[in-house]
Formats: sequence, C-alpha cells, structure tokens
Amino acid sequence: MGWVNRRRDLGQIIFVDLRDRTGITQVVFNYELNAAVHEKAEALRNEFVIAAIGKVKRRDADTINPNIPTGEVELVVEELRILNVSKPLPFLPSDTVLANEEMRLKYRYIDLRRDAMQFNIELRHKVALAIRDNLASQGFFEIETPFMTRSTPEGARDYLVPSRVQPGMFYALPQSPQLFKQILMISGFDKYFQIVRCFRDEDLRADRQPEFTQIDLEMSYPQPERVWEVVESFLTAAFKAAGHQIKTPFQRMDFDEAMRQYGIDKPDLRLPAFTDVADCFAPDELDQLGINKDLPVIAIRTPKVGELSRKERDDIKPLFVSKGGARVFEDFKRIETKFPEAAAKVREKVRANAGVADDDLLVLVVGSKQSIRDDHPAGKRKVTPAEMAIYASAGLLRVALAQKYSDRHKLFQKGDYRFLWVTNFPMFEYDEGEKRWMAAHHPFTSPHDEDMDKLETDPAMVRALAYDVVLNGTELGSGSIRIHRQDVQSRIFHALGMTEEEARSRFGFFLEALEYGTPPHGGIALGLDRIVMILAGADSLREVIPFPKTAAAKDLMMEAPTPVADGQLRELGIRVIGDRSGGRDVSKSQKRMPDVPTPDFVGAMCEIWSTISSAAYHFAYVKVYLQTRAMQTHVDDLRLDEQDVRNQGQTDVIICRSHLASFFWELHHVFEAIEAAINRGKKEHSDIQTFYGRERQLAAVLQSRTATDIEAYRNEGHNIPGIIGQRWQEKGGKFLYHFLPTLRENQSSEPAEMTQQLQAYFEFVANLWLAFVPEPYKSKFPRDFSFPVTVPFSYIGELPVELEGGVPQLQVQLEAFDRITPDLHPDASGTD
Ligand code: ASP
Repeated sequence: MGWVNRRRDLGQIIFVDLRDRTGITQVVFNYELNAAVHEKAEALRNEFVIAAIGKVKRRDADTINPNIPTGEVELVVEELRILNVSKPLPFLPSDTVLANEEMRLKYRYIDLRRDAMQFNIELRHKVALAIRDNLASQGFFEIETPFMTRSTPEGARDYLVPSRVQPGMFYALPQSPQLFKQILMISGFDKYFQIVRCFRDEDLRADRQPEFTQIDLEMSYPQPERVWEVVESFLTAAFKAAGHQIKTPFQRMDFDEAMRQYGIDKPDLRLPAFTDVADCFAPDELDQLGINKDLPVIAIRTPKVGELSRKERDDIKPLFVSKGGARVFEDFKRIETKFPEAAAKVREKVRANAGVADDDLLVLVVGSKQSIRDDHPAGKRKVTPAEMAIYASAGLLRVALAQKYSDRHKLFQKGDYRFLWVTNFPMFEYDEGEKRWMAAHHPFTSPHDEDMDKLETDPAMVRALAYDVVLNGTELGSGSIRIHRQDVQSRIFHALGMTEEEARSRFGFFLEALEYGTPPHGGIALGLDRIVMILAGADSLREVIPFPKTAAAKDLMMEAPTPVADGQLRELGIRVIGDRSGGRDVSKSQKRMPDVPTPDFVGAMCEIWSTISSAAYHFAYVKVYLQTRAMQTHVDDLRLDEQDVRNQGQTDVIICRSHLASFFWELHHVFEAIEAAINRGKKEHSDIQTFYGRERQLAAVLQSRTATDIEAYRNEGHNIPGIIGQRWQEKGGKFLYHFLPTLRENQSSEPAEMTQQLQAYFEFVANLWLAFVPEPYKSKFPRDFSFPVTVPFSYIGELPVELEGGVPQLQVQLEAFDRITPDLHPDASGTD
C-alpha cells in the first residue's frame, strides 16, 4: 500500500514507483499477464493511494536499480485497489527541483511526503528519543510545566493570551520554563528535564522560530562541571542516534579567551585563531599606518584562499563591520611592499601560532586613533571595551571570510564536530543607551562567590557562573548555576536597577519561595531544533520542524494568525485599534488573474508597484513606530516599548534592503534611501550605532564595480522590471491598474485585496532580488523575509497612480514621507 510516486506507461507495461514511509518499490502491470489489472492501472496518476497484491520477482539483471534498496526486485501485480485518488498537485514529492518555500509551507502535507523531509522528521524523533532515554537513565524526571503562565525575562517579547474570566488580564506563553524548573528544585525533584516548547516574539531572524523546542534541565547541588557531564552524555547519545561518534569531555574556554582568540563568544574551532602581531611593527611604522599603538593588531588567517584579484581584494572591505573605531587592512601585500621587515615578522609570528601557509589570506584588524577611550564603566576588565571592539570586529570578519572562501579552504566538512564550553561570562553588560547595567544571561544567574563583594561597588568585574555549549560556531545552549538565596537575588535585582517594589511585583512569589529552604541548583537549556538542523545538514530550522512559521511568524498552511469574530473579542473585553486585515492572504495572491497585461506594460507597472510598495513601507514604518510609542501606558511596559522601537531600528535598515530589492534598477535611488535611513536612524536612535554606522559600507558599495555594472546593465536596455513583471504574472499576481478604477472612485478606500497583492508582490520581489544585489549584501541577509505590517492605504492617495505620468521617483516618496512625518511624529502630536 502507498502512494503512486511516479508512473511510466510503456504501452504494454506500466511501471509504478510505490512509495510509503520506508521508501520505494517498483510495481509492474503487464498487459500480457493480466489485461484487466493493466487497464485499471491506466487510470493511476501521481499521488493516488493504492493497494496492490502480487508476486515479488527478482528483476532482470539489466533492469536492476542499484540506487534504491529495493532495486533488485519488483512486484508483479495481480490485483489493484485504488484506495483514493488525488487532484493534480501543486508540486510533487518526487520532484527533483524544490518548489518555492511559500508553496512548500502552504502545502506542507505534500512537502512532508518528500524523502528528505521524512528523513529529517525521523531523525528528529530518534534524536529526541535518545535524549529522553539518556536523561532518564541519568536519573532525570521529565516534568511538564504550564504554557499559560506569567512572563519570565529571557530578553524577548511575550506572546500573550487574554483571560476571559478575568477581563483585562493576560497570561504569557513561557519564553522558557526557567522559573518553574527552579521551583521544581525547591519542590524536591532534584533532577528535572523537559523537551519543551518555548515562545518568544522576536522579529525577522532567519534562524529563529517564534515557537521552538528546548531540551531544558535543572539539577540540585551541581558544580558547573556536573551539568556539563550530563549534557555531554546526552549529546553523545543524540549524535550516536544520528550515526555520529563525538569525543568528550568538550574543550573549555573562558569568555575572555574566546574574545581574544576568536573575537566571538561562540568560536568556530574549525578555523584558525587570531594572532596579535602588534609587536611585529616598530612604533613609527604603526604611526605611519595610522594604527593605535595601545591596542591589539589582529592578524586573521583564512587558509588556502590563494592569490586574490584586485576586485576580490576590494570585495573584502564591505564584509568588515567596524565597531568602536576598528579599521581593516585587507591588502596585506601593500604592507609587505612598504614595510617588508615588519611584514616578514608578522608572517613568522602567525606561522608559529597557527601554521600559516603561503596561500593563506592574511588580513589585519587594528584600532584607530578614534578608538573608544577606556574611561568606560567596563574599562578595568581584562579585555577592555576598546580591545573588545577590535576583537569583535575581527571576529565577525573572520567568520565572513571563512564563509566566503569555504570552497577554497574546505574546512566546513560534514561530520566534523568541534564542541566547546565557553565559561565565566561577565555577569553584566553595560547598556550604552540606557547608561545602566543589564543581566548578560538572565537575572537568576549566580555570580562567582569571590566576586560577590563587587556586586554594588564594581559590577563590571563580576563574573557569572554561566556557560554556553557551542558547536562549530553555533550556540547550542546556555545555562548557569542559579542564585538560591533570597538576599542575593534581591541584590541582583537591585544591581539591575529594579526597585524593591518592582522586584516584589514581578517576582514576589519567587523571592518568597527562595526563603523556604532552597537547595543550590543549576541547569541549562539546549535548542533541539538547532541540533537536529546541524545533524540533518540542513540550512534552515524550517527543514527540521514539521509545521514551522515564516519569518513573518505566519503558518501558511493553517493561515494563522487570523482575525477573530467581534463576539469573541467582546467576551475577552478586547478592542482592536486600527487596521485589522493583518497581513496578506497568500491563497488569494495565487489565484490567476483574467486580464494579463502585455510585457511593456508590465515593465512600467512594475516600477510603479515597487515605488508604491516602498513608500508604503515608509508609511507603515511611521505607523508602527507611532503605535509602539503610543503604547507607553505603564512603567512595566516601558522596556517592551523601547525594545519595539529598537526593533524598528532594524526595520529601518531592512527597509533599505527592500529598496535594494525593488529599486535595484535605479541604484542611485537605492543609495539615497539608505542614506536617508542612516541619517534618520542616527537622529532617532542615536544609541543604536550598530544599525546606523553604515556610511562607510555605503561609500564602499557606491564605489564598487557592481553598482556601476548594474546601472550599465540597465542602461543597455535590459528590462529588469519587465523580467520581474513577467515572473509575477506567471505566478498569477495582479497589477496595480487592476485596482485603479476603485482607487479613482474612492481615494480613501483601503481595498483589502490590494493590500494583499502589494504585500505579496513585495515579498516576491524581495526574494528575487538576491540574483541582482551587490555581492557584499548578498551573503548577509536572509533569503526570505517578510513584514508583519499592514499598508496604510489612505496615504497612497497622495502618490501618483496615473500611468501616463511616467515612472514616479523615489524622491516623491521621500517628500511625501517628510510631509506626513512632522504632524504624525509623537513629539509634534503630543502623544509622547
Ligand atoms: N532558561 C535559559 C534559556 O532559555 C536557559 C537556562 O539558563 O537554563 O536560555
């Protein structure tokens, strides 16, 4: 029994590949042997469900298929039953070319029938089972904890569930079971674990899912090493279940050491460490090169890159993200020509440290005269903030280079697993924007005993009993020894700027519990999805989660989230403010449109479409910004609100990426947009430098050949918008002119279908753009991103929608944007 995977009709003989969970078997319908069955088989189509009875026969030598386990036999059918038929499918489980991801997610049940998905889901099952068995054998109990609970601070936004019986009150879905597992220690279950769903409302990260699965555990009385043993044991079992042997104990490294050697707290040990080559240069040489003498000079070695062309060397610069004034010398040859002696010493030192070969790429990252001065609150740390900035800039570049040249160094081989424990993190991180200390892990993490006395006097120097387990540059999980004394917990809340009253109102129950004989305890949580993803060799979490969500947190199959009936809202005492159409409805955008425009027309329309969609995003941005600002109703919400605005900072840069997508054939407009966003960002979010310190990248891109190449391509008359339009049309998308009559008749209407089409179009272009954008941006951004915002159409009325008006320019939007912003801006409208 099974599905018709494929059917080949050779006239007298029909072959069917019959598929079930275990694989494929060839079944044969032979006219000469059984004409009636053969006739019935003629009706078979892809994905029909059938039962076939017959004789298993060894295949003739020349028809043996060595590629499948059942390739030596076939079933000669004597009786056929068609258990169910199937409509023609949007794509086939047997297709060798993958359908686009939107389709795969919408028809997930078909997608899951594919071999690769069956394999991944089975792997997930085996891995989870192995972990359960292993933890049970180590004496851990699996104990469930509630999903409807109250907020636990893990640094993200909560998903809320309204209470009907207590209108106006909300449960939060747990970001992790952190407090429950600590309470379980207080309750005497001294070894707890749970393979558990966690919920975090975070935006636009390709490797995040709003709900994900943790292997969560906690135990009483452990030293960190005891927790590590437990983890190493269950990871060994998990990897074994997937056919891999791993070595324990894992390597261990201090956070400071990780930063110094790798510039990141999750080092990929498959790649060589840094070498500090400051002492290879004479002081006046450093001066001549404009290098800050008091800071490290980091040599990054990327193996086996070989000779680079001029253009390739130029392409390195945009990979560099400068923090705290760090600079890059991507062309070591130039240093070699100018300072041969120093360069020779550098090569020697790197060779001694990390075995440099002649064809390795050397790049230097250094501090500049403008680097951070160390009167910073963390200035006394072993690794000072100024050094940290250089290490961190070099760390990111090291990874980017390794990714770019992975074909050459071939160090990213499947099955090469380098585990690592990173330990002794700083307890607090200084938030530059808020000028205060924040918990680096979560606020229940215990400081080192010997650092306790510095909690109030010198928080910068307090180390946490926290640890991360890292695999090949990916953080698999993190944990800590917890605070088990009420007085210490109160001191930590205090150090984090919480008043006694606030601490009591948020965590009163927990502070009280700590007072009734709490044993010392500690634990950890690891991401199951990530582990399975790595074991499956997949490049997205969505490949190992049966029913995942998109980057816009949508379930395309169930079409969730959805609006709900007014009655239901009334019962909950909830009123929805503003636009309620949510996102778009994919099923609608996929319907074929009857009136198909001609290709030239398509070209022109595309420009208008994208112009408007970009403008719409500017407006949507303002709208979201205002909504989040306007939510400032309660002090408790303040932090969430700030986080929203912060995320909007990201959104702003993302909007620019979108401009890259929709305007790549008008590059100067793209760059104008980026510049505008950088300037606006600096003004509005001056504390989040990372998002806006991009002028240099922009300048680099402006000078790069790719930019001019694309312009030239367009000027040669290549109709890129036409190409996009055609593909949009093939997909069955609608064009703006379709809606013009409605728009003209009623300027202020917000036709829902048009919103949907716009959003669909926008995502579509955003996914297409990868083929055209300049190289430095290409590798950086997720392949599929989409936006959970609705488009405020009343504003669109202000933009030209007439075809005869030619192609509207970005300028128009920016003007419109400026025109609208002042009186909508919170400062001006007095809502702030
Ligand atoms: N609850 C923490 C997290 O989700 C893990 C832990 O500290 O055990 O990251």
